[in-house]
Amino acid sequence: MNTAATTGPITDLLERVSRKEHLAQDEWIRVIDEAETEDLRRLADDLRRELHPDDAVTYVVDRNINYSNVCFSVCNFCAFYRKPGDSEGYVHTYEEIFEKVEEMIEIGGSGVLMQGGLHPDLPMEYYTGLLGELKKRYGIHLHCFSPTEIYGMAKTFGMSNEQVLRQLKEAGLDSIPGGGGEILVDEIRRKRRTECNSQEWLDAMEAAHQLGIKTTATMMIGYGETIEQRIQHLEKLRRLQERSLKAGYPGFVSFIPWTFQPDNTPIGKIIPDRLPAEEYLRWLALSRLYLNNIPNVQVSWLTVGLADGRRGLHFGANDIGSTMIEENVISKAGANHKATELMLVNVIREEGFNPVKRKADYTRILQ
Ligand code: SF4
Repeated sequence: MNTAATTGPITDLLERVSRKEHLAQDEWIRVIDEAETEDLRRLADDLRRELHPDDAVTYVVDRNINYSNVCFSVCNFCAFYRKPGDSEGYVHTYEEIFEKVEEMIEIGGSGVLMQGGLHPDLPMEYYTGLLGELKKRYGIHLHCFSPTEIYGMAKTFGMSNEQVLRQLKEAGLDSIPGGGGEILVDEIRRKRRTECNSQEWLDAMEAAHQLGIKTTATMMIGYGETIEQRIQHLEKLRRLQERSLKAGYPGFVSFIPWTFQPDNTPIGKIIPDRLPAEEYLRWLALSRLYLNNIPNVQVSWLTVGLADGRRGLHFGANDIGSTMIEENVISKAGANHKATELMLVNVIREEGFNPVKRKADYTRILQ
């Protein structure tokens, strides 16, 4: 560790960040604690421009489908799940899912982001059969099942992550969303009663990378974690990405930090307030700088709203996410922002960037 810089002026640390030097964790803590917001913004914006010199800001038109809300985890920040046996629990039939997909295709969408809870009884054939049918009927991009669900399937069926992922990939799975990452530190995960621990989440991700499956990564902030834990989370993602890239896998194609939505959640009574936009934007910029080995960073307009979402495009984000024509998980917890494709395109243009439509794995769609 460079102790001179750790104890020296913050400008020395920012200078090292601008040279893409990876700082020690306590140095990053100083950066987030002491740097001026404008300095963080400028450094993140510079790196964004270097990584994406065409000034493109990408977006995706797809649909969230939550195939089931039944879950054997009891995360106390979640307003979506129902325990097995609960009368409000549901599992969508294939026909219900086909209808949703057809609506998505009608508005020019390219795929589905499909996630659910950790269902204790659904057979493996439900998942593989569904992927196979969706691929055969519609040929769409299938961005499905977070590492937490992969962990849940492996546990339920007594299989390894690799066995689960191989079957899903053979059935048509294209890429994996980074849901369930929250903060990858077990101290806070235990307090939040999260079934899948940090190593289990990372193991499922690494197994996906090793099968050549592209994934995204997320971070949920504002649910009672410390600054140190946020930094540890970023460090774990950075290290996994280093290993995956070194081994020649595509690894994480994007990082998406978003804010805890407290409404209707058990811990919403203790943490009723949303993270201030300023704090979110500072962490967006810091994430861009910290994870300079992940090519894309998405601003979560869905949780912070379009007004602050557009500001994020100047804090290191080069992606504005999805139109989200259906979202059931965080909307239940109070994030009810909506946008059409035209709205996102206009926002991107108004902020001085070039809108580019993409698929869920960040490959661009030529129009
Ligand atoms: S966050 Fe996911 S794993 Fe946790 S209770 Fe909700 S649906 Fe289940």
